Amino acid sequence: MKKQAIETLAIHAGCEPESVTGAVNVPIFQTSTYAQPEVGKHTGYEYSRTGNPTRFALEQNIAALEGAKYGACFGSGCAATDAIMHCLSMGDHVVCADDIYGGTFRLFDKVHTRHGLKFTYVPAADVAAYEAAITNDTKIIWLETPTNPLLAVADIEAICKIGKKHNIPVVVDNTFATPYLQQPIALGATMVLHSVTKYLGGHSDVVGGAVVTNDDEWNERVHFVQNSAGGVMGPFDAFLTLRGIKTLHVRMDRHSDNAESIAAWLEGHEKVEKVIYPGLKSHPQHELAMRQMRRGGGMISFVVKGGLEASKRLLKGMEVFTLAESLGGVESLIEHPAIMTHASIPADMRAARGIDDGLVRISVGIENLQDLQDDLKAALDRA
Ligand code: PLP
Repeated sequence: MKKQAIETLAIHAGCEPESVTGAVNVPIFQTSTYAQPEVGKHTGYEYSRTGNPTRFALEQNIAALEGAKYGACFGSGCAATDAIMHCLSMGDHVVCADDIYGGTFRLFDKVHTRHGLKFTYVPAADVAAYEAAITNDTKIIWLETPTNPLLAVADIEAICKIGKKHNIPVVVDNTFATPYLQQPIALGATMVLHSVTKYLGGHSDVVGGAVVTNDDEWNERVHFVQNSAGGVMGPFDAFLTLRGIKTLHVRMDRHSDNAESIAAWLEGHEKVEKVIYPGLKSHPQHELAMRQMRRGGGMISFVVKGGLEASKRLLKGMEVFTLAESLGGVESLIEHPAIMTHASIPADMRAARGIDDGLVRISVGIENLQDLQDDLKAALDRA
């Protein structure tokens, strides 16, 4: 069959018309179990923790978008991360980009270190640092790019070459970029992780996660943990995510259109100390970002002059932007990483990583650009 483009895959991959009625959309198979025709024979589905047709369609869909063979969906992005970590054994070591989502750091630092895993954090964009941190026990290199919240860009291809040289799989959390903007498996990654809660779902109505891979062995390991530990995604959430993904490419282009304009406008604003956006020439890894990403995406971080107090004034009373955690939905969100999403990272570590008290993160939605800009202008005037 002809290789289809991502815009076509987003709508069709995994979504064959249903065999009994011809329903064009994958139905919500809201069932825990399946009738078996006789003992020892089943339809391919036995029990919904092990497999569910709605979830399976989504797993196939996300895998296809990422250029992978296999997918596994979970009840959250953190549950998906957790499933990968559960494939490791006591004493195993992970080299990890330092500026990762606070909840991922908490899971590694507060849960998996208690179970005997070891982590070394390296500056996300420093390719040599990943290799230098590898030990005889290293079993995974973990990347998030662009990172959350500082939007550092890691060189996926170069780091995957290091992984291959040492026979260590690289996992890329592709939540911020999505497969429309960035394809880590084509750049050498073994696994891609998503919080589908964000751009894949795209409407802030689902919490979910996914792991996709082309590697038979890793697929088996992840599915074994998925079935054994059971952190699976429910069928209704799988349905909503499938529905969201159908417009992924359209949304990502509009998110990027709006964010590109807003980032450039913020950069010229007198109350703004610094704007961090991979699509801006001033971004330290701009050239790399434009090489491995189609566009800059919808996330912008900026530092408002006047620190914590100014950023609090800015965040209070916005009209179009909603003050809320999370990102990637059609609606614009604004948040304060040090107090909200990244509070689980100790203050000294936050400061060392550059998560300033004046840092504000925005998830630029797909509303009218002028309305978004007017709202930010009024907020900066207040600050
Ligand atoms: N990875 C990234 C980059 C995230 O931003 C998040 C959540 O914000 C997660 C993983 C965790 O996903 P979830 O909230 O769906 O558990």
